[in-house]
Amino acid sequence: MDKRLLTDLKAAIRSIPDYPKPGIVFRDITTLLGDARAFRRSVDELVQPYAGGRIDKVAGIEARGFIIGGAIAHQLSAGFVPIRKKGKLPHETVRIAYSLEYGVDEMEIHSDAFGQDERIILVDDLIATGGTAIAATQLLRQMGAEIVAACFIVDLPDLGGAAKLRELGVEVRSLVSFEGH
Ligand code: AMP
Repeated sequence: MDKRLLTDLKAAIRSIPDYPKPGIVFRDITTLLGDARAFRRSVDELVQPYAGGRIDKVAGIEARGFIIGGAIAHQLSAGFVPIRKKGKLPHETVRIAYSLEYGVDEMEIHSDAFGQDERIILVDDLIATGGTAIAATQLLRQMGAEIVAACFIVDLPDLGGAAKLRELGVEVRSLVSFEGH
């Protein structure tokens, strides 16, 4: 990716130290989303390798993955499927539990959201330890979907999530990386 574009995108992300707790630097993408040029360029860059290929659906992880995933789906003329926290989807769901730093959480997808062998792209704003994206990958594969790639605006490589996802055979695409937590 063009070095100036990368610098521009990085500068469009706001970093908030010690949020939500001491020691964590929260990478706030709302400033990037609010910058028309940065938002558009982020989506264009993320979809670039997949434009022209067959992508049936984009699966976005609640909640920031909905915003970026929706834009990516539009750009690729693909459908959009929300991956939600448990209890939010009205129809029959499939569910997976995953570990958070403290305790566990569960995510769900409508059980009829994918046909067998549909080609999908998984989207979230950021990958850190990979716990969220790995659980989503397991859920999607369990449903018979083929994950063409997982796309994130931000990677925190020191936390190892992207490497773990690649070990599972998932192509990982991200635009900006930050050191540390
Ligand atoms: P993980 O499961 O550890 O890869 O964490 C990824 C999820 O947590 C994503 O949905 C992110 O939005 C959120 N997240 C984790 N760490 C940060 C951070 N430093 N800044 C902003 N969001 C984060």
